Amino acid sequence: MQRPSHVANIEQTRLKFFLDEPDYAYGMDPKAFHETIKTEYPSLNSTTYLDHAASTPPPRSTLISFAEQATNNLYSNPHSRSSSSTATLLEIERCRGRILEELFGLTDPSARGQWDVVFTSGATAALKLVGEAFPWANSHSKYIYLKQSHTSLVGVRGCALAHGAVVSTCNVTEMPGLEHPEADSTLFGYAAQCNATGSRLGLGYCQQLKERHPTSFVLLDASAYLSTAVLDLASVPTEYAPDFIACSFYKIVGYPTGLGCLVVKRTSGAILQRNGYFGGGTIDSISVSSPEWSRPRRSLLPGPIHERFEDGTLPFLNIIALNCALETHRRLFKSQRHISKHVSALLRFATRELALLTHENSRPVVKQHQAFASLEEPGPTIGFSILDPASEYVGHTNLEQLATVNGFHIRTGGLCNTGVLASTFNISDDDLQREYNRGRSCWDDEEFGGIGTDYKYPLGMARISFGACSTIDDVLQWLSFLRRYFVVSDKITSLLEPVKQPSISASLKGLMLYPIKSCGGQPVGRWEIVSTGLRYDREWMLVDAATGKTLSQKRYPRMALIRPTVVPEDRVLIISAPQRPDLCLPLDTSDEHVTAANICSDVVPVTSVNIDIDEWFTAFLGMPCCLRRLSSSARRHAHFDRATGAVPILLSNESPFLLISQPSVDQVSDWIHESNDIEIHADCFRANFLLGGGTASLPPFVEDTVDLLRIGSETFQVLARCRRCLMVCVDQNTGCRMKEPFSCLARKRKSPQGKIEFGVHLMWREDLSTGSLPTICVGDPVTFVSLRENNG
Ligand SMILES: *Cc1c(COP(=O)(O)O)cnc(C)c1O
Repeated sequence: MQRPSHVANIEQTRLKFFLDEPDYAYGMDPKAFHETIKTEYPSLNSTTYLDHAASTPPPRSTLISFAEQATNNLYSNPHSRSSSSTATLLEIERCRGRILEELFGLTDPSARGQWDVVFTSGATAALKLVGEAFPWANSHSKYIYLKQSHTSLVGVRGCALAHGAVVSTCNVTEMPGLEHPEADSTLFGYAAQCNATGSRLGLGYCQQLKERHPTSFVLLDASAYLSTAVLDLASVPTEYAPDFIACSFYKIVGYPTGLGCLVVKRTSGAILQRNGYFGGGTIDSISVSSPEWSRPRRSLLPGPIHERFEDGTLPFLNIIALNCALETHRRLFKSQRHISKHVSALLRFATRELALLTHENSRPVVKQHQAFASLEEPGPTIGFSILDPASEYVGHTNLEQLATVNGFHIRTGGLCNTGVLASTFNISDDDLQREYNRGRSCWDDEEFGGIGTDYKYPLGMARISFGACSTIDDVLQWLSFLRRYFVVSDKITSLLEPVKQPSISASLKGLMLYPIKSCGGQPVGRWEIVSTGLRYDREWMLVDAATGKTLSQKRYPRMALIRPTVVPEDRVLIISAPQRPDLCLPLDTSDEHVTAANICSDVVPVTSVNIDIDEWFTAFLGMPCCLRRLSSSARRHAHFDRATGAVPILLSNESPFLLISQPSVDQVSDWIHESNDIEIHADCFRANFLLGGGTASLPPFVEDTVDLLRIGSETFQVLARCRRCLMVCVDQNTGCRMKEPFSCLARKRKSPQGKIEFGVHLMWREDLSTGSLPTICVGDPVTFVSLRENNG
């Protein structure tokens, strides 16, 4: 048996790792370390969290010590003069010192004196502060940023451009700015660590910039770097250090959120200017009757820079929580430097093991990306793509969905770093513009761009990242997940070979329509066929009352329990749901009150139904939503390139009809039962047509091999196989989400392009049909025509 030897192997690997990497686990023995993690992070017990670069969870002790400190002591607004106010002020000042000491390596108090900490709501706010306060002076000033920067750093260019400054980008390998004469004021922006790939430039790159451009200013985005490292300002001469450094604390200690800071070199602070706004805390004196004059804080006397930029009341309890968090981290993990070593050990292991994963044909499974050559040992973040046996990219959404149902937390997509995405996959600005024009945005589920052009490229990558509480088991779990789902052996490939079965007969076993998109289905016996699908199929939908976006079962699985029934004889649509009175709507309505709704990337004209009805849905789903009917003026088309021309659809996502077969469902069921006893039903695939055996039994997946089929007197053409997502995991009878059948499909039904497929999309071929009244009926005989077979 495979399993016991595999388990023994994990045990062995874990132990060997402990012996090989003495810096792992903060000097604790394996048992004590795992106990600590278990008690401090109970929420991680049944999952594998690999997204520390996005945010790291807080340890239990941080929350407990903060609760105790904030309840046993009185803290109050630091602008007052009471003893509670003074106590608060002391905590705040202690926190500033502690940040410089523990996160920036400034153990010497006089060295700390050269820096100031300005509290902000996060790294983005700190970057924005510099963007707004930098003395941009028309074309005499310049903002130059590293191409592979986080969007929040790129955004500074908006401020620069607004003031007429010159903006350009640079690469690590080409030192910037030499081709231009030195501007009056130049600001360079880069990240100490790339948030997408972990590549590091640290403080070294700043030194290179400053050596070459001594009068320029450097804005360092240290948010990713600081989460597991010390940005050691004591290690470089102050003139070579950055002038402004931005970070967020939740990335380092998990809690508090909403707090970050800008660390400012005191000698550079004076150039930052307040523009326009002032507020409580940042003003010394103002005129009252006319807006004639105002004297901002510290406009005359030099003093702490933070006094000029911290508008209003500081989030003082958050700052006290940060003190508790830093203290807890020190108690649990010794120091930020120990955390660094701990995660480095994990990174080395993960990088090596991922590189060793190969398909049966010896080609690699994982391609690890590098934004640029690291100047230091990289941070514990791996940006990567999965490759298929032909070394083609597997889509990142596919990976993410599978990871999600299997209890992994990872990040995929553009990772807020378009520069890395573009340089990794060779995407040009024109390409990005074209994708945007066709409705694509950086957070959607699209996996590939450039479709229909010479160059098809991924629109996202995947990222795993480690933090202070990551363990070797997290890495081992991830590796075994990849082995299970993405390493392709010959056995899986053979399953994808189409079954060649001529002249088999079948019959229509089930017919289902879905009047309201993403709600429950209505089983019917005989039904009318129109070019957009079954008559009334997906003519209505629910939209988010706030955004106008379509609601889907993927987000709101309870939608499965809403059961619409079209009764054509009575010209009504009846809608029922558990513990709700039935609704009855007329089928014949006029096209009044047309508004717009968003479906996928289309904006479509819809009509509202009525407000009382919206309340019925809102109460049932527990979120404000409205029922909309597609306007008769709407024109939508399936996104399939087909010689047959455009295929009209109503509100379905892809095509007019979806077909599956019972033998295929049974086969998936059998596969699932090899490892567990979860029961699935054909209805989770939300097909319109369910085929069953006719005179002979039908082989599974016969639908994959067919081009044309006739049901009764009507002919349908297969458009494409249906790509599956997590939606198949919603139990249509309970409205609950399960792990199957997605996990099973992902292992057994993945195409060589990495798509998880089940069932086929169809269009109606009216020209090849013979019925005078186009209807089909459960029990109708089904015949198949496979054109491919004729072509050999
Ligand atoms: C997370 C991150 C940011 C943004 O931080 P916020 O806390 O969202 O403001 C900016 N840059 C990098 C490199 C990051 O990792």
